[in-house]
Amino acid sequence: MQNISFYIDGRLCTADKGLNLIEAAKRNGIFIPTLCHFKHLNPLGSCRVCSVNLNGNGIAGCTVFVEEGMNIEVNTPELLDNRKAILEMMFVEGNHFCPSCEKSGDCQMQNLGYETGIRYTRFPHLFVDRLVDARPERIVVNQNRCIKCKRCIEEIVTNDGYKVFNFTNKGKKTTVSIDYEQEAKLTAAQAEYAMQICPTGSILVKGKTFSKPFGNRIFDQGAEGKTVPFNKVNMNITKGRKMRIATTSLAGCFGCHMSLLDIDLGILDIIEVVEFHKSPLTDIKKFTERCDIGLVEGGCCNTDNIEVLREFRKNCDVLVSVGECAIWGGVPAIRNTIPLEECLREAYLDSLTSEGNATVIPNHEDIPKILNKVYSNHEVVKIDYHIPGCPPNANHIWSVVKNILFEEEYSINYPEFKYD
Ligand code: SF4
Ligand code: SF4
Repeated sequence: MQNISFYIDGRLCTADKGLNLIEAAKRNGIFIPTLCHFKHLNPLGSCRVCSVNLNGNGIAGCTVFVEEGMNIEVNTPELLDNRKAILEMMFVEGNHFCPSCEKSGDCQMQNLGYETGIRYTRFPHLFVDRLVDARPERIVVNQNRCIKCKRCIEEIVTNDGYKVFNFTNKGKKTTVSIDYEQEAKLTAAQAEYAMQICPTGSILVKGKTFSKPFGNRIFDQGAEGKTVPFNKVNMNITKGRKMRIATTSLAGCFGCHMSLLDIDLGILDIIEVVEFHKSPLTDIKKFTERCDIGLVEGGCCNTDNIEVLREFRKNCDVLVSVGECAIWGGVPAIRNTIPLEECLREAYLDSLTSEGNATVIPNHEDIPKILNKVYSNHEVVKIDYHIPGCPPNANHIWSVVKNILFEEEYSINYPEFKYD
């Protein structure tokens, strides 16, 4: 095989002529992320996460075979942002409720979210309600998590050579269909392989999920010493006095506030420079002074949440969404896939714990009105900063606060930057 030279981001690289770019880059110590490319498969080019510029033109990196003198850009600011945007679109296009997902910690898409530093999505979540198919013999396929990468279709075949998966329909109606007859012929090992190669939690093997404890999952630690960088924020904070922080919990479980306190003795350093104003931690109920930073846990599920959030925006210079519920609705937003009427009926009339003769759904004028769906905070007011996690790690929360107060650059350790 002829050895050729080419350039990636201006760096001279060498590889065998005609080698796939993803592999050629890897051999030169350069990582190009992808979700559909897989070992010996023909290039699928379906996920576009590996988008690169080849001699100035955009192209899916996995469809490129290296040639002498090629000039490839992988990590320009524009490409990095495009890659992030593609991943954000994947997150909002399906229902990715990581904290309740069986693949969390072992999921390639989630890991790429960490690696690219996704803190929130710039696109609205669709909250789809697609089939979760448990009819197959060995597996369950959750169409709400499928990113249509095509890996299962190309890679999973029975011992007698038949495909098990295929695409049905076109455009946004495309789903992965299962040939039940062929699926029943899969061995246990083949079924597990299907789960393993699926880059999301769309394919699961019955009885084989949640088998690993936290800390032992594939992506719990990330690469050795890996950090996720964040940029310095210039917020024109007034210096020379203790900074005031306000906090609130909207539609959340209070877990983010618990995490806030998890900094233990570190809080002694913090209170040297900050004081808490309106917050469940101080029991101060009203704003009497302007605050430098507002930390908001939880999203908006009722009219009261909207009012409190607007009040925080009005009274805080910098507003921070803390945790998944604040960023995209989180666990409460699981109801967004179900009509509100149905949720209320289930909660008040039809649930196992309802009184047998219950006929009333509470609707007194003093009770905050429930919104048609749970909204992320940045859909309601401008949010300056997002801290992902369920709940976010205490060190992460305080790194952000210090970053804002002291306008310092910082990066967060990979295990502390988590969505699950
Ligand atoms: S762990 Fe992966 S598949 Fe599961 S919800 Fe999160 S991103 Fe989606
Ligand atoms: S089920 Fe998994 S492997 Fe198959 S297309 Fe969907 S995301 Fe890809």
